[in-house]
Amino acid sequence: MASPGLSKLLRVGPGPVDLAAIDPRSTPGLPKKVGRDPKEWSRAAIAEIGVELFRQQEMLFASAKEHPEYRKRVLMVLQAMDCGGKDGTIKNVIGQLNPQGVHIVGFGKPTAEELSHPFLWRIKRALPAAGVVGVFNRSHYEDVLVVRVHELVPARTWGDRFGQINRFERQLVDEGYELVKVMLHISPDEQRKRLLERLEDPTKFWKYNPSDVDERSRWPDYQAAYADVLERCGPDHAPWYVVPADRKWYRNWAVANLLLEALGRLKLTYPPADFDSAEERRRLEGERQVNSS
Ligand code: ADP
Repeated sequence: MASPGLSKLLRVGPGPVDLAAIDPRSTPGLPKKVGRDPKEWSRAAIAEIGVELFRQQEMLFASAKEHPEYRKRVLMVLQAMDCGGKDGTIKNVIGQLNPQGVHIVGFGKPTAEELSHPFLWRIKRALPAAGVVGVFNRSHYEDVLVVRVHELVPARTWGDRFGQINRFERQLVDEGYELVKVMLHISPDEQRKRLLERLEDPTKFWKYNPSDVDERSRWPDYQAAYADVLERCGPDHAPWYVVPADRKWYRNWAVANLLLEALGRLKLTYPPADFDSAEERRRLEGERQVNSS
């Protein structure tokens, strides 16, 4: 069950954003009748939305395949505090798409080579081709988030990056990108719960990083940095959405809806045949048996 209009409800900025006023456990836009088991409801709803996501993505992919000059594409930017659910969102929502038309890139600590270039260098190399849905698991926004909180560059340098990011995204949109920028918004309590879960389950040890606990102590700094991003980098052509993400089932459903709305804005169609289909049918029906030997 899709919910048109979720993008309006979840949009924040530009201008002052009070993240503390957005409850990470809230469920904006949720239909009244989700029944007794919201998780089950969400799974079914996402499967239903997934059918349409798949169809839309196929039209995007097919159009680019047919027309070399085709420019449309989607780029979803996922940002969150540690344990915010980026990986789960990719699995559950992007997992609905045809992997052939998806390009997922994660951005970790920059390598020495990446650091030797301007911060957008590695981002530009990772952009999706026309017809493809790109997903950034972290993004250029880390360069005004973690970099700012840890003072990895002078304030002047990260301060200049807001304008650089805005110009970069304006250019992407002009080139045919539809941007879906999502901040998964979790509470410190939920993060603690998820970190503890990782410690209780040996199959999740690989996901646990002791430095995540140190990062928790900087929570207010990160929230302030996020608020600045949302305030300064969310014009109408490249808006930010804040998805309350303490409830995973809501988070997945909301992001699926945001992606579906974005694909809908592209007004996609299947490319028409560039051949005479009736003539082709006649040829196939009238042909002599093809000898396979
Ligand atoms: P994730 O936490 O996204 O699952 P990792 O455990 O590999 O993935 O963490 C990636 C780390 O890289 C994060 O701590 C993030 O803050 C850091 N990082 C990403 N981009 C930058 C950057 N531009 N400068 C410094 N650190 C960065």
